[in-house]
Amino acid sequence: MILFFDIQPSHKRLEYNQTLTCQQCGHFGRFEVYVMANRFRLFFIPLFTFGKRYAVRTTCCDSLYQLTPEKGKAIEKGQTATITADDLTVQELGTRAMTKECQHCGHTQARGSNFCSHCGQSL
Ligand SMILES: [Zn+2]
Ligand SMILES: [Zn+2]
Repeated sequence: MILFFDIQPSHKRLEYNQTLTCQQCGHFGRFEVYVMANRFRLFFIPLFTFGKRYAVRTTCCDSLYQLTPEKGKAIEKGQTATITADDLTVQELGTRAMTKECQHCGHTQARGSNFCSHCGQSL
C-alpha cells in the first residue's frame, strides 16, 4: 500500500477591521490580519494543521508584522481585540515606510535623512 501525504501551506485572511495611524509611514491605514499554517494531508484529506502563526499587513505602506498568538487567536475566534504596537514585531517594512516626502519640495527622500537632497531644506 502506498501512502499519499503532503504538506500544504495555507494562508487565510481573517475578518478584522482596525484603522490606525501608522507609526512607520505616518499615513492612515488599516490592519489586515492573516493566519498562516501548514496543513498535513493524507490522500488529499486535510488531517491537521501545524506551525500556525499570525501575520499583520498594513494597507498604508504594505509593511508586514508578526502578531502575538494570543491576539491572533482572539481575532480568529471573532473576539474583539485591539492590536497595539506591543503585539507586533516588524518583519518587513514596505517601501512607503522607508521613504518620506520633503515638505518643502515634495521630493521623495529616504527616511532618516535630515536634509532634502533636492532642495537642501531640513526635513
Ligand atoms: Zn504605514
Ligand atoms: Zn526638498
